[in-house]
Amino acid sequence: AGKGRWDTIHGAGLRDTEETIFDKIVAGDIPSEKVYEDDLCLAFKDVAPCAPVHVLLIPKHRNDLSQLRKAQPEHVGLLGHLMSKVGAVAEAAGLDDYRVVVNDGAGAGQTVFHLHVHVIGGRELAWPPG
Ligand code: IMP
Repeated sequence: AGKGRWDTIHGAGLRDTEETIFDKIVAGDIPSEKVYEDDLCLAFKDVAPCAPVHVLLIPKHRNDLSQLRKAQPEHVGLLGHLMSKVGAVAEAAGLDDYRVVVNDGAGAGQTVFHLHVHVIGGRELAWPPG
């Protein structure tokens, strides 16, 4: 596979160790509208929503999970936790039906290299997605 835009800008490999804006959100240095929180994860409203409801669910500690393809056996528990909390996040956001999206790589639209799950709803969602 070719190198993504992030590699071009920041150098291959750096994206796994560099802080992202989500670390600042977890630390409270950048304000966010919290939707759900527990020991392992945080959900907050996307600053540029693509639908009436657009929430990001992230692990509080990235644990080298810059993107989904980096998942290792030691991440299975964390990934399971995130997936198991999507319903609670959606309910807290007032959603009935919704879409769950992970953009994996710059070519798929990923811009922040700290794993995150988009929870999107509040309008009719077309399929296939663009
Ligand atoms: P990605 O494009 O799949 O990596 O998703 C990153 C998301 O983070 C985008 O939908 C952005 O709008 C969102 N985002 C970036 N910075 C902030 C912020 O400071 N607060 C909330 N959402 C953000």
